[in-house]
Amino acid sequence: MTPTDPVALAQALIRCPSVTPEDAGALGVLEAALTPLGFTCHRLRFEEPGTAPVENLYARLGSTGKNVCFAGHTDVVPPGDLKAWSVDPFGGAVLNGKLYGRGAADMKGAVAAFVAAVARELEAGRPPQGSVSLLITGDEEGVAVNGTKKVLDWLKARGERLDACVVGEPTNPVRLGDMIKIGRRGSTTGRLTVYGAQGHTAYPHLADNPLPRLARMLVAITEEPLDGGTEHFQASTLALTTVDVGNPATNVIPAQGTAVFNIRFNDAHTPASIEAWLRGKFDAVGGAYDLVMSTSGESFLTPPGPLTELVADAAETVTGRRPEYSTTGGTSDARFIKDHCPVVEFGLVGQTMHKVDEHVALDDLAGLTDIYGAILRDVFARLS
Ligand SMILES: [Zn+2]
Repeated sequence: MTPTDPVALAQALIRCPSVTPEDAGALGVLEAALTPLGFTCHRLRFEEPGTAPVENLYARLGSTGKNVCFAGHTDVVPPGDLKAWSVDPFGGAVLNGKLYGRGAADMKGAVAAFVAAVARELEAGRPPQGSVSLLITGDEEGVAVNGTKKVLDWLKARGERLDACVVGEPTNPVRLGDMIKIGRRGSTTGRLTVYGAQGHTAYPHLADNPLPRLARMLVAITEEPLDGGTEHFQASTLALTTVDVGNPATNVIPAQGTAVFNIRFNDAHTPASIEAWLRGKFDAVGGAYDLVMSTSGESFLTPPGPLTELVADAAETVTGRRPEYSTTGGTSDARFIKDHCPVVEFGLVGQTMHKVDEHVALDDLAGLTDIYGAILRDVFARLS
């Protein structure tokens, strides 16, 4: 396989059924492509009690200058109902100018495009004017415990720093060149339990029904928005996901009721400020309650500047369109990388990600390879 061809490499990756946490040979395919190009490859296997072990790869070309990192993942979500697919999800078929398969868009295609871009620069006699690295995890679509976060810790422990990072997640809603993600909202989940005293419904004065208080608390946190949005972010959102009492009896007042809600928050908030806001609302209703919060990612923003301009210019040069800067969508591993260096996200068109018949246009694979090539040629001069 010639590593300058993103299609062949993407096909080889798709043919590894690397459903999280399985690697299924995907990182080996990458290593086999990167090692002949001069990359030093480190396979990093992490595990923790209660989680499946996960394979990761850190590969670096060059040992001097700024270290520009491409981050991504080779794990994929399950294909779902195989009968609903018109092709083998792990076959890598090319039909009518499109490459099909689980991970084609999210994001084996982008990983292949980046490797091909590096290979082409080397073949053209333009070695990077610094170091280029790839941080590829097998734990992005899962719990993300044994993936990017631990690789970053490993890098820090060995004194290796990243100076800038491009994450290759599918960021374009419809066409290549639509959108660069320059930040992400945070995500925090709250579990509220309201306590009372159980009793007979015919003698409510002898009980303390927690449910009216639970209802008032839920109204209090949903009747007005958390904010009106900020310069680069949409308004934060709060979605109730379940209310549970589990009371099978019609003549018993329950002792407690629980509700769970998920908040996607912008850069006007921190998890601590959100918890304080929630407790203020609940305290105003009164009574005994527990609130347990768990945060999977904080919000972050890479303000428009040299890195965002570099990627936008490269995308515009190739596609003729200036990408919009956006912070929409869910979380990504950029939430971990942002603590180490400036990070932006730009990849393929995301329309079919996680869907049946996931695919990517061959033209987009070619275009993304050209965009990553333009980034590689300009990045060291522009970020110095
Ligand atoms: Zn992804």
